[in-house]
This record gives sequence, C-alpha cells and structure tokens, in this order.
Amino acid sequence: MNITVFGIGYVGLVQAAVLAEVGHKVSCIDIDEKKIENLRSGIIPIYEPGLTDLVVKNYKNGRLNFTINAAEGVEHGDIIFIAVGTPPDEDGSADLKYVLNVAETIAEHMNKRKIIINKSTVPVGTADKVDQAVNDILQKRNAVDINYDVVSNPEFLKEGSAVKDCMSPNRIIIGSNSAYVEAKMRELYEPFNRNHDKMIFMDVRSAELTKYAANCMLATKISFMNEIANLAELLGADIENVRKGIGSDERIGYHFIYPGCGYGGSCFPKDVQALIRTADKIGFEAALLQSVEKVNLNQKQKIPSLLDKHFNGNLSGKTFALWGLSFKPNTDDMREAPSRVVMEYIWANGGKVRAYDPEAMQETLRIYGQRGDLILVNSKEDALQEADALIICTEWQVFKAPDFDAIRKVLTEATIFDGRNLYNPLKLKELGYTYYAMGRGDSVSGQY
Ligand code: NAD
Repeated sequence: MNITVFGIGYVGLVQAAVLAEVGHKVSCIDIDEKKIENLRSGIIPIYEPGLTDLVVKNYKNGRLNFTINAAEGVEHGDIIFIAVGTPPDEDGSADLKYVLNVAETIAEHMNKRKIIINKSTVPVGTADKVDQAVNDILQKRNAVDINYDVVSNPEFLKEGSAVKDCMSPNRIIIGSNSAYVEAKMRELYEPFNRNHDKMIFMDVRSAELTKYAANCMLATKISFMNEIANLAELLGADIENVRKGIGSDERIGYHFIYPGCGYGGSCFPKDVQALIRTADKIGFEAALLQSVEKVNLNQKQKIPSLLDKHFNGNLSGKTFALWGLSFKPNTDDMREAPSRVVMEYIWANGGKVRAYDPEAMQETLRIYGQRGDLILVNSKEDALQEADALIICTEWQVFKAPDFDAIRKVLTEATIFDGRNLYNPLKLKELGYTYYAMGRGDSVSGQY
C-alpha cells in the first residue's frame, strides 16, 4: 500500500521503517530539513535498537522515501499518518497546533480519497477538530466532493524497544465506525496480525481516551510504588521485599512496580498533565491523576534532598559522578529525565557533574552546551575520577554489576545515591559504603 507519514520523530520514523520493511511504500515528510537530509545520508536522528539497519535498508531498496515536500507526500499516500509532536501547552493541555497544521496541509493538497490517521497522542475530540480543519479547507477549495476519513490509531511503542514493539504489537487500536476504514486497516496491518487478531475496533473517542488511560495507568503504578517506597523508608521496611511480595499476586503482577527517582520521558508527564486538563475543562476533578503528578514531581526531588542531607546543604566545590542521563535505558531521550533535575540542583548549589551515559551524551551536550560544571566522559569509570560521590539515575545494564572495590578506591567518599535500587544494601554496607536507595530501610541516614 502507499503510505505517507507526517512527522519523522520517534513514532513516525519507527512506524514508517517497519511498514516499509513488510512491503508498503512509505513516504516520510518532516519540516526539519536537516533531519531529512541526514536521513537520506543514513544518519538516524535518534538511538533506537535495530532502527538504523531498517531505515538504511529500506531507503536503499526504495520503499522508504524522505522529503520535505508535503504536496508530494499527500499525492503518494492513500493512507496518511499524522505523527507529529503534541507537547504540553502553557496550561499543560496538549498543544494541537502541529497536528492541525498537518491536517490543513493534507487538505490543501489532496485530490483523491484519503484515510487520515491520528497516530499522535491527542485528547478526546481531536479527530473532530482534524475533520473540521480538513473540511474547512476543502470548502474553500470547492472540493468537498473529495472523500476522506479521520481515524484514531494511537501508538503504544516503548522507546528502547520501539522497533520490536511495532513489529509485534500487543494490540492495534483503531477508532472508526466505517467498514471501508476497517477493511483498509486490516490490509495495512495484516503482516503484524498473523499470530492472532490484535486489532480492536472502537469509536474514535474511545480510541483517543484509550491511549491516555494506558499511559496514566502506568504512571499511576510508578507513583504508587514511589509513595509506598517513601513510606517503607520511614517505617524501616525494604521496598524491594515489598515489591516482590505484592508482585507475586497475579492481580498486581511484577511489571511496572519498580520504585525510583521519578518517571520522565516524552509521554507520561505530558499525558498525565493533558488528561488532568481535559478533565478540568469539562468540570471534572481528576483527583487521582493530580496526585500521580504531584508524587512524581516530589520524587524527582528525592536525590537532591538526599544530597542536601548528606552534605549538610553544602555542595559547593563537590564533584559528583553521574551514571545515566536518559530518562530510561536503551534510549537517548532526555525529555523530562530525572537526571536533569539532579544535575540542575547540583549546579544551582555550586557543585560539578562528571557524567556518563551509553547513548545520551550527544543529547546532553545539545541541551546544556559546553559548561564548566558539566564534564561528559567516555566511560563509567572515568566519571568516578575526582568525584566525591556516585549518583545513579538510569538503570542501564552496564551499571548493574560494577567493581565496588575499584569504585571505593577512586571516590573521595565511598557514598552512592542510587535512584534505581540496583545494588544490595547489605553488601555495600559490608564494603564500607554509605548507600542511599529509594525506600530501602533507613536510607535517609545511609545506615541499614
Ligand atoms: P518527536 O518530537 O520525536 O517528532 C515529531 C516530529 O514531527 C519532528 O521531527 C518534527 O520536526 C515533526 N513535525 C512537526 N510539525 C510538522 C509538520 N507540520 N509536518 C511534518 N513534520 C512535522 O515526537 P514523538 O516522540 O515521535 O511523538 C509524536 C507523537 O506520538 C506525540 O503525540 C507523542 O505523544 C506520541 N507518542 C510518542 C511515543 C514515544 O515514545 N516517543 C510513544 C507513543 C506515542
């Protein structure tokens, strides 16, 4: 099938590459000229396992095309995805200007029937707005006889395993009441739907809400665990024992109940906020979601407050080794990453950071630029040089079994602030460390 994707970011690029891989002909449109130029030269703007090979291969074989020419893109695709960003507006609601811009662009150029798919995460009612935007322009063009459908098809990929998730999705949600759309969507996704039927058809509004509900549920699980972790800490319990204890209940399960230094990324913070605003606008108080957000904002202050306690409010002249910058492992995405809160707190208080991340170094440099109090180094060992203490913000595999004897020899103080509960507190105590973790016994004082 001929497909066009507007917005070649995490979602658009991965979806386009995966659709091309199974045989569809995909045209990728973005307004970022440099990004398009780079993609044509095989330079992939994001780190995502398996993505580079897929993009390069399908670009070479002609099934994947990159252009800034929107008219060409609209002409090519019978099915057109909108996969642009929906960042938070000033009040936290989703800013739809990029989505509606694309809708208008499609309407300006379309001259035959199109299926327009909202893949971006958009509030309930956005399909109606896209429909209105397209219709307005078709009217101006005297072209109301051109048929089109607006469909919601939210994306559930996880950064870090995006290619795998798109290749074998758990579910494919389609919001549309049209039999024509259902047949086309079945044809489009047929290669991903062979094992069993993963396609769930529903009305547009329910599809739009499903995406927010899924992300808000996951964010709620994390904030719930962080709240219990903070309670465990004050009560002298170990959240890691509690986690295993509750995870063994099949109704709860082990997934997504890890305590930590707060959730980040491009989705959970903005989607929780956006659903709170959606509720506000219709006069409904989303009390649970408000608490989820509040708990998370507090949790991001957890490491700063432990630093403050340990160093008696004096970080001036101290250097901190920081392992992990991305908001989670296997991505270079730094959006809303807890590491940013930690670094900015250290800098505001006169300290320095020596940071290492397997993939997010370039992104860190792009965000913060060259500065005297940020030293980006090439290995986790190098980060420890001249550092007073070690801080861990991301649970990359390479941080999970370090040489603790070697670390102790290098650090000025044998102190670790572990935002991801990677180590055994008793073992670290035996090795002479002061170890602060998230909700593990009396980690406020570093004693167990
Ligand atoms: P992104 O910021 O990585 O990419 C968006 C792209 O859209 C950019 O390259 C930008 O240049 C381009 N763009 C903006 N306006 C355009 C226009 N008029 N025409 C063509 N291109 C345009 O965003 P993302 O992370 O891929 O997210 C896209 C959407 O998918 C968001 O709504 C997000 O919430 C949702 N989503 C993201 C993830 C994720 O893990 N990143 C997962 C599921 C859903």
